[in-house]
Amino acid sequence: MCDEGGRFSPASFLVGGLKGSCLVERVVFLQVVVAGAVGAVFGSFANVVIWRLPRGESLVAPGSHCPRCGLRIAWYDNVPVLAWFLLRGRCRACGEPISWRYPLVEAASGLLWAAAVLTWGQSLRALLGIVLFYLSLILAAIDFDHRRLPNVLVGILAAAGLGGAVAAAAGVPACPLVGSARGAGAVLQAGAGVFLGGGVPLVAALVYERVRGRAGLGMGDVKLLAAYGLFLGPYVLMVLFIGSIAGAAFGLAAPRRARDAAIPFGPFLALGAVTTALWGEHLLVAYLRLAGLR
Ligand SMILES: [Zn+2]
Repeated sequence: MCDEGGRFSPASFLVGGLKGSCLVERVVFLQVVVAGAVGAVFGSFANVVIWRLPRGESLVAPGSHCPRCGLRIAWYDNVPVLAWFLLRGRCRACGEPISWRYPLVEAASGLLWAAAVLTWGQSLRALLGIVLFYLSLILAAIDFDHRRLPNVLVGILAAAGLGGAVAAAAGVPACPLVGSARGAGAVLQAGAGVFLGGGVPLVAALVYERVRGRAGLGMGDVKLLAAYGLFLGPYVLMVLFIGSIAGAAFGLAAPRRARDAAIPFGPFLALGAVTTALWGEHLLVAYLRLAGLR
């Protein structure tokens, strides 16, 4: 149900459902569903990028095909998430298993696109949020598989963030996505984000290398954090914080074999970036309350 001011409230919508909703809510609901569906279709392409880009293969040709029997995958077998379940995770022709990672990436992409539109409505901010989430998903998967963050993807992310900062300078709500700064304030925050996101881990990495004699943090991680700084401003420190805690928790919980192999930092930074973009302000308030500072 819409609240007094006719504003959309996700919480009351989830309780009330479509039946008790007003027009505003139905329109938002439709936008979120469409964003989720388009996001899932783009998730299919994300799978292509995740597989082919690190291998230096073309992203457009040839079309999707089974790696074993070469069967070209028809559009109906390429419907995100659903097709994998209908095919029971196997190639239609030869029965070659298809990794569960494919529907997972498609579903994650759909959910992230939907979350961006739910959070920022129909706006430039939603578009920037989608770019941030989508590229983070792809980068996380590539880093997980290959232990590297391709410069071209981090570069596209940084270019989008820079575009967002320029738009904010012109007075359009854009980057940083957290907070409501516009004009000079937004540019200042984005600049601080790059400085903190790139500078703090760079210093930490150099000190660590000096002391331990080996690299602890990849330069790819530092570049990614600098790009995240454009999107999140000073909140980029929260990305580093969440990423470090999630990474450490995974390191403690993971089986010994997985722990001995170097654990890539990228997936945890991506998780931190999405969390910070969506809930950063709430998390900061909750943290300050917990610490008795507010
Ligand atoms: Zn096949």
